Amino acid sequence: MSDSSAHPGDPHYVTRSNWLRAAVLGANDGIVSVSSLIVGVAAANAGQDAVIIAGVAGLGAGAMSMAEGEYVSVSSQSDIENADIAREEQALSDFPEDELAELAQIYRERGLSDETARIVAKELTAHDALGAHVRDELGIVDEQSANPLQAAFTSAVTFSIAAAIPVLAAWLAPASSIIPVTLFVTVLALAALGALGAKVGAAPLLRPTLRVVGWGVFAMAVTAGIGSLFGVSV
Ligand SMILES: [Zn+2]
Repeated sequence: MSDSSAHPGDPHYVTRSNWLRAAVLGANDGIVSVSSLIVGVAAANAGQDAVIIAGVAGLGAGAMSMAEGEYVSVSSQSDIENADIAREEQALSDFPEDELAELAQIYRERGLSDETARIVAKELTAHDALGAHVRDELGIVDEQSANPLQAAFTSAVTFSIAAAIPVLAAWLAPASSIIPVTLFVTVLALAALGALGAKVGAAPLLRPTLRVVGWGVFAMAVTAGIGSLFGVSV
């Protein structure tokens, strides 16, 4: 995208959305799933060592499944996009007139007059026919196309770093208060993550922060409940 922005001091953030989404998803998942695991195992009256082992195992397993999940989902997304682009390329060579009319129709629907729409369609087709159809008909823009490896790496790394927070909290906490310490540290970490995600995306702070913290606390409450059931039965 050219940097001829009309407001260079206040840029758009949509180009950040892919890695930001993978990073926030990875970090959020890391904190919530591992802290819930730790609280659940601690609520089942397991010893501190067992709790930490469960946390570290959850960190490793979670990071791998995040990476695999992101890689597979982003790869299938780009497979679909590439198949659509190939179909479009074929249609352009088989039915150039129909494709030109289709492009002009898209511009008419966007508000151009008949004549202007035909001129724009003709000029863009002459300049880069496939590019115009991919962007304006299929809605695929380069900046939004995610790289599977980058997405996998981003979410695995952010998952691991984030999941290390509740593991460290459980490790440093006195054996008698693993649950309250992990809960407290996790809520703080989730609030920071919510605020950071909003800040990087230049979105308002409060709602994303409350959303992240709310779901995190809910997840921990559920697993603590399940854990305490086991604790009572053990
Ligand atoms: Zn087309």
